[in-house]
Amino acid sequence: MGRHCAGVTTGAAEVREARTAAGAAVVTVFLLAGACSPGSTSRVTAAESAPAPTPATTSPTPQHPPGAVPREGEMSDVRTPGAVPREGEVGRVRALGGLPPVVSSIPTERKVVFLTIDDGWEQDPGFVLQIRDQRIPITAFAMRDAVEARGVPDPAGGQGRYTGAGKWGYFRSLQDVGVPIENHTLTHPDLLRLSRAAQRQEICGASKLIAERTGARPTLFRPPFGSYNTDTLRAAKSCGLTSVLLWTASVQPGGKIAYQTPDKKLHPGDILLLHFRPNLDRDFRILIRKIKRRGFELGNLQAYLEAATSPRK
Ligand SMILES: [Zn+2]
Repeated sequence: MGRHCAGVTTGAAEVREARTAAGAAVVTVFLLAGACSPGSTSRVTAAESAPAPTPATTSPTPQHPPGAVPREGEMSDVRTPGAVPREGEVGRVRALGGLPPVVSSIPTERKVVFLTIDDGWEQDPGFVLQIRDQRIPITAFAMRDAVEARGVPDPAGGQGRYTGAGKWGYFRSLQDVGVPIENHTLTHPDLLRLSRAAQRQEICGASKLIAERTGARPTLFRPPFGSYNTDTLRAAKSCGLTSVLLWTASVQPGGKIAYQTPDKKLHPGDILLLHFRPNLDRDFRILIRKIKRRGFELGNLQAYLEAATSPRK
């Protein structure tokens, strides 16, 4: 993922209090009207110049014909498909105290949502093909015990059949089709019950393992159950993780969206949470159609996070 983000301007600041399961206030500051422009077009590769980044695209989006470079003001990512932010589109996300920001949604007015998938109990090869063939941008949060089929599955992950489980190769195959493999702990504990040292072991241990198994060190952390406190953020920072990702809606079996907002609608910048569960392939097709029907695009989470969190230059 590129790290170029320049030309940022800031406008009015909006302070939001993030979810705090521990009661410890973690305040995230969104500086609205932040802008991020590409630092360079030299990072463009043949892969990202491929046409039609996502089938869920229904409105004007950054689509690059072969050989083209992104238009002025667009961010790009060399690995993951999906819509990338336009200049000035993304507001700023910033955490206080130098700790990683806690991000539940991306501050944008654009009808774009982000897909994230957790755990790893079920490993359906058909899902990898769908992601590859349709160039769907997703971010995977891998949890060791799920990927390696240790212990009892998290009920949120469904009744896993353990298809191909115990193989990090499944996650490497996802990585090969452009999916970042991020950190979701070793054993899926409620971090609020753990000491800072124990949290660090869970979080840093997972980063180390994922780096060993996939060759890429995670930069994002998703706390199990969305539970975290200041120790979590400190531990995440100490392991080199740059953002803590929560979500605004989860997706149930059958592709049904369980909203956390009273109006039961998708909103610009929403981050959707799914799990690697049986029938994910089928559920995902239903979900993608639903998102498309509602006029939303699928966004490249990494490019949007970069636009939202990169320091101003
Ligand atoms: Zn989980």
